[in-house]
Amino acid sequence: MQRVETIFLNQIKDGHFCEISVLTDRLYVEGMENCFAGEKNITLAPDGKYYTCPAFYYHRKRVQEPEFVMTRLERSPVCKVCDAYQCERCVYLNKERTLEYNVPSELQCLKSHRERKRTMHLQEELEKNFPSVNFMRIAEVNYDDPCQKVMWMWG
Ligand code: SF4
Repeated sequence: MQRVETIFLNQIKDGHFCEISVLTDRLYVEGMENCFAGEKNITLAPDGKYYTCPAFYYHRKRVQEPEFVMTRLERSPVCKVCDAYQCERCVYLNKERTLEYNVPSELQCLKSHRERKRTMHLQEELEKNFPSVNFMRIAEVNYDDPCQKVMWMWG
């Protein structure tokens, strides 16, 4: 990972504002850039039926019409207060691991927050080496899983 960061920093030094999947996503976006399966896009499968995404088709799991609404970001109490904007927010994994479309598993959140932390480290390097270059600010947070944040908010 550190070698990839070095490549990125060298590119910036040369004036190339490149992007590296996941690692730099959070530096460039101001809001959720998730998969949005079922919310902004759906899959028309070879069997002629609609699915939330290809994963649901491959596992032959159809979502009933009223359930589609539960894939929306606004219906996920945890994701909507989260700022790991690079996270896939995979509704298929949600359903597999928590049985709910709108409840992420701890594993998914921990992974995304590890990525977020890595990008924060990269941002520190950017600020140190290129103070005049502006990227999106990533705030320090005191949790690794946004579920903890929601539990504090709800008291
Ligand atoms: S890290 Fe967790 S809470 Fe944040 S967007 Fe991803 S799945 Fe949702």
